[in-house]
Amino acid sequence: MDYISSRNLRFVLHEVLDLGQLRQLERFQDFDEEAIDFSLDAAKQLADQYLYPIYREMDRNKAYYQDGQVHVLPGVGEGMRAMGEAGWLSANWDFEHNGQQMPLTVHNAGGLIFQAANGNLAAYGFLTTGAANLIRAFGSDDLKATYLEPMAQGRWQGTMALTEPQAGSSLSDITSTYEETEEGHYLIRGQKIYISGGDHTGVENVVHLLLARKKDGPKGVKGVSLFVVPKYLPEAEGQQDNHVTTAGIYGKMGQRGYVAAHLMYGEQGPTRGYLVGEEFSGLRHMFLMMNEARIGTGMMAAGSASAAYYASLKYARERPQGRHPDNKDINAPQVTIIEHADVRRMLLFQKAVVEGSIHLLLQCSLYEDRYRSSGDERAHLLLELLTPVAKSFPAEYGNEAVSTGMQVLGGAGYTDDFPLEQIFRDIRVNSIYEGTTTIHGLDLLGRKVLMQNGLAVRYLNEEFLATVTEATTQPAVAPLATALSSSLQGLQAVMERLLGLARREDARVFLADATVFLDYFGLHVLAWCWLRQATVASRALDTGATVGKPALGDDERAFYRSKLQTARYYFTYVFTRTAGLQRTLLAEERITLDTEPALLV
Ligand SMILES: Cc1cc2nc3c(=O)[nH]c(=O)nc-3n(C[C@H](O)[C@H](O)[C@H](O)COP(=O)(O)OP(=O)(O)OC[C@H]3O[C@@H](n4cnc5c(N)ncnc54)[C@H](O)[C@@H]3O)c2cc1C
Repeated sequence: MDYISSRNLRFVLHEVLDLGQLRQLERFQDFDEEAIDFSLDAAKQLADQYLYPIYREMDRNKAYYQDGQVHVLPGVGEGMRAMGEAGWLSANWDFEHNGQQMPLTVHNAGGLIFQAANGNLAAYGFLTTGAANLIRAFGSDDLKATYLEPMAQGRWQGTMALTEPQAGSSLSDITSTYEETEEGHYLIRGQKIYISGGDHTGVENVVHLLLARKKDGPKGVKGVSLFVVPKYLPEAEGQQDNHVTTAGIYGKMGQRGYVAAHLMYGEQGPTRGYLVGEEFSGLRHMFLMMNEARIGTGMMAAGSASAAYYASLKYARERPQGRHPDNKDINAPQVTIIEHADVRRMLLFQKAVVEGSIHLLLQCSLYEDRYRSSGDERAHLLLELLTPVAKSFPAEYGNEAVSTGMQVLGGAGYTDDFPLEQIFRDIRVNSIYEGTTTIHGLDLLGRKVLMQNGLAVRYLNEEFLATVTEATTQPAVAPLATALSSSLQGLQAVMERLLGLARREDARVFLADATVFLDYFGLHVLAWCWLRQATVASRALDTGATVGKPALGDDERAFYRSKLQTARYYFTYVFTRTAGLQRTLLAEERITLDTEPALLV
């Protein structure tokens, strides 16, 4: 079952990120290379058994709403409980909460396996972990005692209930309200739309982590607080219906087995909510889950793109069609399409996006591990800066990679005989939810780049330069190092221009091309990832050829050579897009700003 490469995950974790360094921290001392590989193997077995087999079935027998209930395949509940029983929903929690204190980097590597096997099922679990993490971080002891265990076991579903009809990208406009009662809980009223995992028959209860505004309280984010709102009140509260009504579920282009529900609170009776953390800090607290979900959405996109790549690769190796352009002999047998350079161009694009994204996502996870376990502020700032890229690059380029993968299959790619058409539909939403790509462009340029007077950008630049310096010592990759280093001057010029606009002009001018900047910046980040991977691969090939060292086997040589070749492809075919984007970002014309709405006829 080829949907992700375990060898590639081990390469990134051990050889590129040197995850062993985390063992110096007491929290992670048990996670040596063997333990990490064991965890990855266990994740693959679980994904093979519970997730992968029902990926297509979840699409063909999509979730449906009937008589007030949202029905999903029985395999959804079974898969949730299997992930829970194997400890995956709580693996990175503290021992005291029955966790394994697994580094997030390893947990997310396992998550990538689940996402590639079946992102629709993996997402139910991933959301549950994220919601429970909010309770762990900010909830009272009572909330922790009541909710964490059944959520970790996959018996109760967690959700993230933010969006309302008038408040999607603009969360400060939410209007769902809460009122305090004398019994200590709050009464919630309002509606939420598009709530993933919002209701379904695969679990015993649903726990909404919900944002609401104090009734008659201040406008904007100031009046917003965070609540736990269960579908059924837990035993201590009388185990009754909490009047969270499902108005229906959305008919979606993809991810059809992964429910998105329209929910109403307090319409058909009182709905109780329990405050999480401090009152009026709701959005600030929710950012913990949102940041996690952004990396998670990037993982989902990278997982889908990975599954598409291996499906395309398999097809390209088996499908005979045409002959080489220099062979005019009509009697000669057809070649398999992987023999055509242009098919390899498409496959290389898929591979470059998938393996570059996986590296970036695990790099971000490692920054988070360092920050959370040892308070490493540098790691924290780098994580903050890179999160919009880690969400958007796999989503945007993943869309393109899956579309390219469909092209590899020709007509067959468009039919439902092959998984590409489903993956193509499934991956599309990743650039919409968890903040559209635009919102991440605004976050990157309007907030992250400016943080602490540009300190995060300076740190990232130091990381870029360290990688360039190291790569320069390896003749096989030195030209790639030169390409990145000269493009960094262009990046500098673009930033100076944009920051100049920020000083001289209003925010409308400064932020007009934030999405273009995100693309441009992200291509540099991925160039850094590919340069690092290529440097490690080049060194491994050299070491394998050193007298006294064991020679590399054929498979290993092919693995490292494939890394080098994909890096070269990235720099020649993908990174070169930065030249056009740079011209756009430096252009004096203000095309989009000057196109008044009336001109769009
Ligand atoms: C399948 C699915 C599942 C979802 N799951 C959840 C969930 O579990 N929980 C949850 O809370 N939400 C969920 N959402 C909601 C999702 O996060 C929102 O759809 C998303 O944030 C966009 O909001 P919107 O749909 O209101 O679009 P809008 O905010 O109306 O945006 C429309 C367009 O305008 C652009 N735009 C908006 N504001 C600006 C601006 N200030 N500057 C420039 N451009 C702007 C956007 O980029 C976009 O292109 C889900 C959505 C879908 C489709």
